[in-house]
Amino acid sequence: DSFFQNVVQGPEDPILGVTVAYNKDPSPNKLNLGVGAYRTEEGKPLVLNVVRHAEQLIVNDQSRIKEYLPITGLADFNKLSAKLIFGADSPAIQENRIVTVQCLSGTGSLRVGAEFLARHHHRRTIYIPQPTWGNHPKIFTIAGLSVKYYRYYDPATRGLDFRGLLEDLSSAPSGAIVLLHACAHNPTGVDPTNDQWEQIRQLIRSKTLLPFFDSAYQGFASGSLDADAQPVRMFVADGGECFAAQSYAKNMGLYGERVGALSIVCKNADVAGKVESQLKLVVRPMYSNPPIHGAKIVATILKDRDMYNEWTVELKAMADRIISMRKQLFDALQSRGTPGDWSHIIKQIGMFTFTGLNTEQVAFMTKEYHIYMTSDGRISMAGLSSRTVPHLADAIHAAVT
Ligand code: PMP
Repeated sequence: DSFFQNVVQGPEDPILGVTVAYNKDPSPNKLNLGVGAYRTEEGKPLVLNVVRHAEQLIVNDQSRIKEYLPITGLADFNKLSAKLIFGADSPAIQENRIVTVQCLSGTGSLRVGAEFLARHHHRRTIYIPQPTWGNHPKIFTIAGLSVKYYRYYDPATRGLDFRGLLEDLSSAPSGAIVLLHACAHNPTGVDPTNDQWEQIRQLIRSKTLLPFFDSAYQGFASGSLDADAQPVRMFVADGGECFAAQSYAKNMGLYGERVGALSIVCKNADVAGKVESQLKLVVRPMYSNPPIHGAKIVATILKDRDMYNEWTVELKAMADRIISMRKQLFDALQSRGTPGDWSHIIKQIGMFTFTGLNTEQVAFMTKEYHIYMTSDGRISMAGLSSRTVPHLADAIHAAVT
């Protein structure tokens, strides 16, 4: 008899489960638009040339050792990551009021931030957008925060429900944490304009809410690292406090290396020092210290001007291919005369299109066309290619007519 006789079968992850179903499908025409991982025109995963180059340098470094990193990770990596998101000339960096800790990609950074907040913040409520990345509510709940939603997406316009967002944040209690997608909102691809960001910033500061940025797509939205970090920088420039979770999964293609960072921007250097000491107490019993390899790759690229430039070119090429897929899919639907307004496909930003297709239509496309995506109608544009666009357009056309 097993001790675990009464353990019930858990549900498949709603996003990663799409790939499980895809792998079981024998059809040669099958198409996986579920998981948010970049693919080339040929449908292959991509290792950036600059990453291969950095790995060569790392492997050839005779002085390389495999001792533990400090609890907070690789110091160089942390400094460079802060510069990347907050800007090389950020006064907050010069004032030593930002603490940065290397974490296990974006997810780990969010989790460490959440654990810290659950222990040290007086208001243990976090507002997250409706909808949001499916892992957000789980990460924050399990850390001990209470999760509430603010309105974000308006299905009627397939755009931002800006009025709803402002209303919901206005009625949040003072001190409440607000999760914001820094750019390329997942799953909707809908971002506030710069003007709207400024209004959100003013509201958050006037209501003394605490902003927590999730930055999983810096550079991926527009192709520019600086443009995509603009919202975060606006909040740091006003001197207030905020959190930022960074991931290098998408923008450096380092998915499985699990490399990311949590930064906490504090009021002053004294607070920052104490906050860092408490972050160490969060990390030590969780996983002691983070892995070396991915952080070395990132630090090698970020600190060398040529490699940095090479990275920005490769990053822009990925962003541009995704933008071109949007255009091609939109054109394909136009030329089929597919009923409805599909302009949101070219208006939305980042890796995903929130198609507006419902659960039944998604199920139909999977059954009849072997196209796999999450049931909310989100498709990963990065999984498309010129070759597969017609197949997807046929499927969407059939699903809505
Ligand atoms: N936040 C958002 C919004 C995401 O889409 C993702 C990746 N799907 C992450 C965080 C974290 O991903 P990772 O842990 O792989 O860096």
